[in-house]
Amino acid sequence: MRRPILNSSLAVLFVLATLLAQQPAPDLVFTNGKIITVDERFSIAQAVAIRGDRIVATGTNQEIGQLAGPNTRRIDLKGKSVIPGIIDNHMHLLRAAATWTKEVRWDGVDSRKQAVEMLRARVKAAGNNGDWIYNIGGWTHHQFADDPRPFTREELDQIAPNNPVALQESYFQVFLNSKALAMLKIEAGAPDPAEFVKGSIVRDAAGKPTGVVQGDIAGTRVVASKMPRVAPEQLEASAQALVRDMNRAGLTSVGVPGCDADILGILEKWKAAGKLNVRVFCIIGAAAANPATVDRTIQQLPGLKLFQGDSYIDNVSFGESVYSPLHDPMFATTSNPTADQLEIWRKLAMAIAQAGLPLHVHAELSHTIDTFLDQVEAVNKEHPIKNLRWALAHVNQINAPQLERMKKLGMYAAVHPWAVINGGIMHEGFGTGADDMPPLATIQNSGIVWGLGTDGTAANQTLPFTTLSFAVTGKMAGGRKVIRQTISREDALIAHTRKNAYFVFQENNLGAIQAGKLADLVVLDRDYLTVPADQIKDIKPVMTVVGGRVVYDVANAR
Ligand SMILES: [Zn+2]
Repeated sequence: MRRPILNSSLAVLFVLATLLAQQPAPDLVFTNGKIITVDERFSIAQAVAIRGDRIVATGTNQEIGQLAGPNTRRIDLKGKSVIPGIIDNHMHLLRAAATWTKEVRWDGVDSRKQAVEMLRARVKAAGNNGDWIYNIGGWTHHQFADDPRPFTREELDQIAPNNPVALQESYFQVFLNSKALAMLKIEAGAPDPAEFVKGSIVRDAAGKPTGVVQGDIAGTRVVASKMPRVAPEQLEASAQALVRDMNRAGLTSVGVPGCDADILGILEKWKAAGKLNVRVFCIIGAAAANPATVDRTIQQLPGLKLFQGDSYIDNVSFGESVYSPLHDPMFATTSNPTADQLEIWRKLAMAIAQAGLPLHVHAELSHTIDTFLDQVEAVNKEHPIKNLRWALAHVNQINAPQLERMKKLGMYAAVHPWAVINGGIMHEGFGTGADDMPPLATIQNSGIVWGLGTDGTAANQTLPFTTLSFAVTGKMAGGRKVIRQTISREDALIAHTRKNAYFVFQENNLGAIQAGKLADLVVLDRDYLTVPADQIKDIKPVMTVVGGRVVYDVANAR
């Protein structure tokens, strides 16, 4: 009785093998590697074959080698490890293009000495021409392992006597030199310029501005808004440099809150030419800013078109704010939403659910998360959100009961550990409360679907291996241990790849190295799974592939 069954399955196998053999040969094969597939079993392969923009097979060197034809490009990995293209589920990527090439970025710079050298080099290149020397976030002085000191006005005057300097630490504060203070009309013996919120401009006992401007909303952001943008004819080159930096860091896909239309236009053009090197999944929609605009926002919701794009550019959810007055400012330590505000939040959320839209919403402090979940539970009774993939984003102060409520609602957690650069500041503000911001093990053990992101480029740095290192070691950039709860390197990688594919609605295409998925992968200079934990931050991609195209190759890098 058994024999015919065995024969028929052998026959099926034979037919399958024949079909496979008749397929055109792959365009590209990687062999002799350690392919960390991040599939559901977290399996490891030796080799991978790519045809067009998709992965066609993973397997042993022999299995994949057999598929190669005369025109197949073969890359011998010489034992190197390969991971899926990394996805950041929340980075303000497009906004950054307007300043990227003008900024002195300190992502991954953990030495103050080096940071100062970079400043001096920029001043020298500017040639005393009076140009602004600046950055808009992405760092804090706590990351300088050699000398974690803030900058002073005098020091910056010495570095740049003839150029205005503005160095923005995340959204916490900005350091200005004398030229910058003069340009911004922040003067001794004169009132603060009206745009700044009272108290944001720090003065000494004699009333002289110290060069420090503090605070998120009407402090750092006012200074940032005055920084020169690249000239229109330079915008494309700046966007290109930005995407190139992302590819160099191993990023291939990004969830982007508020996709800026002018940059999106450039990306669309690149896509049409087959040279868009990062996938962009937009979180769109304008939150009502006050009670008067609520009805208008609600009327616009049904017209919001999502999922009209493709696996390179698409709009995937509403966000990242529902009602702007209920948007926890960065570094706020208390949250006091009023009943009126929450009622409006619920009304808007109800309309979002009714319109059948996914939602990705900024929620940071524990009390805010509780009150939002109260509203979502009420919404869910009238318009079930189960299949809408609603996510709370940032959630550094989330707790176990909240994670349970979210799971019941079918919600997800987009985790953006601000402490990666802000750990020092958060400990100043929250004391030991910051020890579990975020509570990574609690999140992982809750079983909720969750993914890692940065919330860069201003609130946080952008390098995924710095984020992965933080998740595994609990150490912020520069090496200070700032959180207690850590997770395994496997779980961290899953959260930065396969789980994030879910957040950008591309789980059938992205997030793992598997036959049928899009060929987005990163070859690493050392093995993520075995390198000492303290070296995870130092891992460097040597090659990044997007849709089967090599978009970064260290051998050809400038
Ligand atoms: Zn946010």
